[in-house]
Amino acid sequence: MTGQPRTGEPRTRGATRRQPPNSQPMVGEGTPLPVEHLDVLIVGAGLSGVGTAHYVKTHCPWARFAVFEARDAIGGTWDLFRFPGIRSDSDMYTLGYAFRPWEGERTIAQGADIRDYIRETARLSGIEDRIRFRHRVVSAEWSTEDARWQITAVRESVGGTAGTSHATDTADRGDAAVGETLRLTAAFLFSCSGYYRYDRGHLPEFPGRERFEGAVVHPQFWPEDLDYEGKRVVVIGSGATAFTVIPALAEKADHVTMLQRSPSYVASLPTVHPLSRFARRILPAPAANRLSRWLLACLAQAFYAASRRWPERTRRALIGGVRRELPEGFDVDTHFSPRYNPWDQRLCIVPDGDMFAAIRAGKVSVVTDRIRTFTEHGVLLESGTEIPADVIVTATGLELQFAGGIHISVDGVDVDPAERLVYKGAMLEGVPNFAFAFGYTNASWTLKCDLTCQFVVRLLNEMRSAGMRQCTPVNTDPSVEREPFVDLTSGYVLRAADRLPKRGSRFPWQVHQNYLRDYQLMKMRPIVDESLVFSNPGSLTSVQLAGPITHTHAPASSVARGDHHLSRLDPVAAADGPN
Ligand SMILES: Cc1cc2nc3c(=O)[nH]c(=O)nc-3n(C[C@H](O)[C@H](O)[C@H](O)COP(=O)(O)OP(=O)(O)OC[C@H]3O[C@@H](n4cnc5c(N)ncnc54)[C@H](O)[C@@H]3O)c2cc1C
Repeated sequence: MTGQPRTGEPRTRGATRRQPPNSQPMVGEGTPLPVEHLDVLIVGAGLSGVGTAHYVKTHCPWARFAVFEARDAIGGTWDLFRFPGIRSDSDMYTLGYAFRPWEGERTIAQGADIRDYIRETARLSGIEDRIRFRHRVVSAEWSTEDARWQITAVRESVGGTAGTSHATDTADRGDAAVGETLRLTAAFLFSCSGYYRYDRGHLPEFPGRERFEGAVVHPQFWPEDLDYEGKRVVVIGSGATAFTVIPALAEKADHVTMLQRSPSYVASLPTVHPLSRFARRILPAPAANRLSRWLLACLAQAFYAASRRWPERTRRALIGGVRRELPEGFDVDTHFSPRYNPWDQRLCIVPDGDMFAAIRAGKVSVVTDRIRTFTEHGVLLESGTEIPADVIVTATGLELQFAGGIHISVDGVDVDPAERLVYKGAMLEGVPNFAFAFGYTNASWTLKCDLTCQFVVRLLNEMRSAGMRQCTPVNTDPSVEREPFVDLTSGYVLRAADRLPKRGSRFPWQVHQNYLRDYQLMKMRPIVDESLVFSNPGSLTSVQLAGPITHTHAPASSVARGDHHLSRLDPVAAADGPN
């Protein structure tokens, strides 16, 4: 891989700050322009994409790279979600980047502050001009013969599916028009596209929805001008979003009812964590922030491990904590005692117990029941009770999606992610030169994504210095069992199980929800292992790469015969020169 374009210097067309000169429209009238080639294409300019761009720029200065972002803003989740009270539900020291520790005093931060942090990181890292906004990657076709991806992207038109407007009350934004199609090639594709659809959230069919005369709002598309002051609001849901939006709504609404089918575990966390406060007292700020990151990462890990080891004790402790916060006689057993074990689903966080304070103040009530139908003036429950409402908020969740919905194929064969194992939680079995950022479910997203980035930049540098243009995770062990990628029992995870890849039962196909273990695995182990096959064009047949190797059971001997493992690098192959 080199920083040089393969087919001559691309021509400038319509260059603006947001559309750098090397953006090459290839479909349309007239003679096609030369196809642009990138060493690394990063998809998405959210928390992960900005972090990835920083790592690639810093550690692979030779790499010609760009970030394609479907929307017209940096920040991803933290720009899209604008509902009242939007905040992190994990601590910012671990949600922040390792290379730029969070400096704010608040451990739990507001959405706008997180958005600013991501934007500021992009600015400080000097990667803003690498981002091409309104560029949605729609397909990526790997060619083994060329050892590169053929990428197709569309330039989203204003009002397209990019999800930039915050003024709609629907959970499904439909398929708006898209603009010009672009084609380019890339040696390595890194998907930092998050894990859910931006154009729609999950919205169950509620009988009688059309009868309701008030506003129905999905938190993913919060209308900027929604007036809920002095109104009766019903929030349907019991996940992190419900626990975030309810206390904020309660500040202005007449009353907020949390309507849930079943309860979740909830824990109160201080907005300013005592550990980080202590670290700041004894150390200069940069050292204190780094120490806080480690302390809070380890604390979260220890709590998770203890929860899995002693579920009943943890359950009692969590429910006991809620009971202490709520008034005497509050029906904690019905409303705050989940039917599952702690961490079978994500734990909900309430900073400084804000939700409990709102319940104590009589501004919020909790109802655990099933919806029979929406009525003109509220929601009728199976129990026969009707909850009056002026506004209904459907905090019913996200619709999960792998790799930004990009259609991936290898040598003409479609890749169904659900049939593939994940390699170290970062690459896909049988898919060359492809990585994805997918964070922890039991800790901050960024902890894992930082490790994935560091792993990938090492991989890129090793490939370059070894003269290897292709690396493919290959499983030759038929005894590796396939399990769901995300080991949560939450509805949004179960609904998406047939769209997500699988984790395996053995190294390196497992997905550890464990930062310390991954730290050792991704940062400290050599890149080369038996399951990562390196090759150059001509050294591995497309048939071997096209399907999941575990299914076709390609014999280990054929892999060894056809490929070069980095540790046994053929000097002649290396002399081919890097890609
Ligand atoms: C309301 C909410 C609160 C959360 N709170 C926390 C928390 O406190 N702690 C935590 O660890 N996690 C949290 N998460 C998870 C959260 O999504 C991650 O923390 C993190 O923001 C994900 O960053 P990302 O960059 O990987 O993905 P995203 O933030 O989703 O960004 C992905 C970007 O990729 C772009 N994109 C997608 N597909 C394409 C495509 N095909 N072509 C081009 N661009 C594309 C999108 O437009 C977007 O800008 C929360 C999630 C939600 C929804």
